[in-house]
Amino acid sequence: MDKDVKEILLTAEQIQQRVAELGAQITADYEGKTILLCGILKGAVTFFTDLSRHIRVPVEFDFLSCSSYGSSTTSSGFVKIRKDLDSEVEGRDILIVEDIIDTGTTLSKLVPLLQDRGAKSVRLATILSKPSRRIADVTVDYNGFEVPDAFVVGYGLDYNGFYRNLPYIGILKEEVYNK
Ligand code: 5GP
Repeated sequence: MDKDVKEILLTAEQIQQRVAELGAQITADYEGKTILLCGILKGAVTFFTDLSRHIRVPVEFDFLSCSSYGSSTTSSGFVKIRKDLDSEVEGRDILIVEDIIDTGTTLSKLVPLLQDRGAKSVRLATILSKPSRRIADVTVDYNGFEVPDAFVVGYGLDYNGFYRNLPYIGILKEEVYNK
């Protein structure tokens, strides 16, 4: 697995330090509140579990799944909910946890949807953002790192279902895509 990685962009240590900072910031911002932490399956799972352990206000966990890239590495441009949240959203302070904001298409559809269901607040935390690729308007409240326009894997992010368990974030070698 590691041999397929061309370049490590973020080490496990850099990620863990930043996640702790984000958790502290979220803890301060949500003082006295209870968060409904909504993870987007499957890519956000690693960040979700790490981040949740740095949040020191009460949280509940929920998950949803949207249509994603599948085995391709370019955006499909439409968003479909495959698995919805289990929780009632009305009156809740929602914090969406995402792996990466790329074009912004997914979140530009998801945030208004949760607002329409009567959420008290909807904010967004992501471990990665690719601002150069943005085509939809999305407010990122908590951003781990900005990355260049390259397809990245690790720390929850996959290629063809694999590499999610890499503890770091990196760029794959070209030959992996041509296998
Ligand atoms: P957006 O709707 O912002 O274009 O895309 C968001 C989703 O695209 C992410 O949740 C992720 O599943 C996928 N994605 C975007 N860029 C990358 C990338 O560089 N690597 C991986 N593995 N997935 C990506």
